[in-house]
Amino acid sequence: MDFSHKNSSPVQEVKDPELEGSGVRLLVKRDDLIHEHISGNKWRKLKYNLREATEQNHHTLLTFGGAYSNHIAATAFAAHKAGLSSIGVIRGEDDPTNPTLQFARKHGMQLHFVSREEYRKLTRVGACRGTPLPPAHDALEEKFGQFFLIPEGGANGLGVRGCAEILPEVEEDFDVVCCAAGTGTTLAGLALTLKENQKLLGFPALRGGSFLKDEVERLMAESRLRAPSTVNYQLNTDYHFGGYAKMKPELLEFANGFHERTGIQLDPIYTAKMMFGIYDMIRVGAYGNTPLQKGTTVLAIHTGGLQGWQGMKHRRLV
Ligand SMILES: *Cc1c(COP(=O)(O)O)cnc(C)c1O
Repeated sequence: MDFSHKNSSPVQEVKDPELEGSGVRLLVKRDDLIHEHISGNKWRKLKYNLREATEQNHHTLLTFGGAYSNHIAATAFAAHKAGLSSIGVIRGEDDPTNPTLQFARKHGMQLHFVSREEYRKLTRVGACRGTPLPPAHDALEEKFGQFFLIPEGGANGLGVRGCAEILPEVEEDFDVVCCAAGTGTTLAGLALTLKENQKLLGFPALRGGSFLKDEVERLMAESRLRAPSTVNYQLNTDYHFGGYAKMKPELLEFANGFHERTGIQLDPIYTAKMMFGIYDMIRVGAYGNTPLQKGTTVLAIHTGGLQGWQGMKHRRLV
C-alpha cells in the first residue's frame, strides 16, 4: 500500500524558556508531521489495517467513531487515497455543519448514524482478525454487504504493529517516553519496543483511564509481537481535565503558550493534556518523586490530531 507520503517523522528538541533550569531535556517525536490529514498515530494504526484489507481483497472499510473523531477523518481520507470505499458508523445524530463529518463525506465516506446505546453494542467487543464479530454486526453486513472492519480508534493488533514502528525510528537516546492514550493502542506499540532501561508513561485523555491496563494487555497479545521481558509502563490518570473532549481554561492557556514559545501546536483532546502533565511532573520532579527528574531525557510522542481544534470551535468549547 503506497500512501505516497513520508513513512517516518523527525525528532525535535523543545527549546522552551520555561524548562530552563529544570535539568530535563525534552524531545518531541513529530508524528503530527507525517501527513496533513492522516495525522500522527491514526496513520500508524491504519497502515497495516489497510494492507490487510487489500490483501484480503476487500473493497470497503467499515469503522466506528464519534462525530468529531480524528480516526473517522483519517480513515475516510486513507480509504479514499487507497481506492477503497469507506463506511463510518457514527455515535449520535447527523449534523451537516460538523467539520469532521463534512470532511469524511467529502472523501467519500458513507455515514451511518446510530444511537449511543446501539453504538455501545457495536463497539463493545474488540473485533479483530481471527475473532468472530459480535451478533450486532450481522445487521451491518445485511445493510452494507462485505466489509473489512477496523475497530473504533484503530484499536487492534494491526494497529499496534504500526505503532511499534515509532520508537525504532528514533536515533537519539532517551530515558522516558510519554504518550497520550485513548484506546491504548499507541501505548501498546510503544511498550513492546521499549528498551529495558527505558520507562513509558501514558496519559489517558478519558476519565478513569485505569481500565486501560487490561486493554493494553489484550492489544499487545493480539499484535503477536514478542514483548520484552519487562514491560515498564505506568499510567498517569491525573491529567484528563474532566474527561474526553472537555476543555478547561488552564489547558487552553497552556496549549496556546506552548505553541507560542516552541512553535509546536498541540491538539486539544490528547497531546495538550499529555504535555501539560509532562510540564507539571517536571515541576514536581524538582522537589518530589516523579520519573521526570533532573538529568532525564524525555521523548514525548506528538500523536497529531490537529483537526480536533475545528471540532472544538464548532462546539464553541474554544
Ligand atoms: C486517537 C489519538 C490518540 C489516542 O491513541 P490510542 O492509540 O487510541 O491510545 C492520541 N493522540 C491523538 C492526537 C489522537 O488522535
